[in-house]
Amino acid sequence: MNTRIAVVTGAARGIGAAVAQQLAADGCAVAVVDLDEAACLLVAESIEKSGGRAIAVGTDVSDEEAVAAGVARVVQELGPPTVLVNNAGVIRDNLLFRMTVADWDLVMDVHLRGSFLMTRAVQGHMIERKFGRIVNMSSTSALGNRGQANYAAAKAGLQGFTKTLALELGKFGVTVNAIAPGFIETEMTHETAERIGVPFEEFKAGAAAQIPVARVGQPEDIAHAVSFFASEAAGFVSGQVLYVAGGPKA
Ligand code: NAP
Repeated sequence: MNTRIAVVTGAARGIGAAVAQQLAADGCAVAVVDLDEAACLLVAESIEKSGGRAIAVGTDVSDEEAVAAGVARVVQELGPPTVLVNNAGVIRDNLLFRMTVADWDLVMDVHLRGSFLMTRAVQGHMIERKFGRIVNMSSTSALGNRGQANYAAAKAGLQGFTKTLALELGKFGVTVNAIAPGFIETEMTHETAERIGVPFEEFKAGAAAQIPVARVGQPEDIAHAVSFFASEAAGFVSGQVLYVAGGPKA
């Protein structure tokens, strides 16, 4: 890959951090975007130590002004972005009758509004260069998951967002795809185990027992899939949802 400028949201840890490292290894200069700029800096520094180029950008993806300022910094410090990975995410799980409006709104704001704002802010740079790669992080929960009405709706929404943008942006050389991870070992799955009161190793073993490849996923499993969608070679692949879940379905 020629030096491209990639923006990865939610990249201070977990899947986003692995994606940022992978895209840097693929030759991208990477903007590591997350709420906490100090946490982003640790990832950016580790990329630079491995010989890559990265900057840390503290931005709340659900805040329109913060997104505009964050993208302006990327353009100024790295250059115009041509790869965007909308990965920032939160969970606020509860059965519907216990789900608060705040739980609903936060999940919609981070996943859907955040992906919308980031994509809208970045797409002009891609269109100008007649090249772009957008990857949205969905989830197997898009197919339905007890206790996740908010999250499942947001992740299914991202699939519709992906397919629509693929139709709108294709003629400008911009592809838009989604990845739907299954169980990936990160803070997010630790949080779920804690909420339901199961020790993490037990929770993980229970999940692995249901997964055809007989293990849970690691952030790198997702980073490899992003690497493909972000590559120049993937220019004829758009509007797809790739389930990366260790089996044919969730
Ligand atoms: P994670 O470890 O919790 O990382 C998510 C990151 O997003 C955190 O650093 C978080 O920051 C950041 N973030 C939250 N709200 C943000 C905002 N408004 N603006 C910017 N950054 C924000 O989760 P993960 O497991 O790596 O998940 C990454 C993505 O994959 C998410 O979209 C998730 O829904 C999706 N996914 C994960 C799994 C899984 O099994 N782990 C499965 C399917 C899909 P704070 O910590 O400061 O809030």
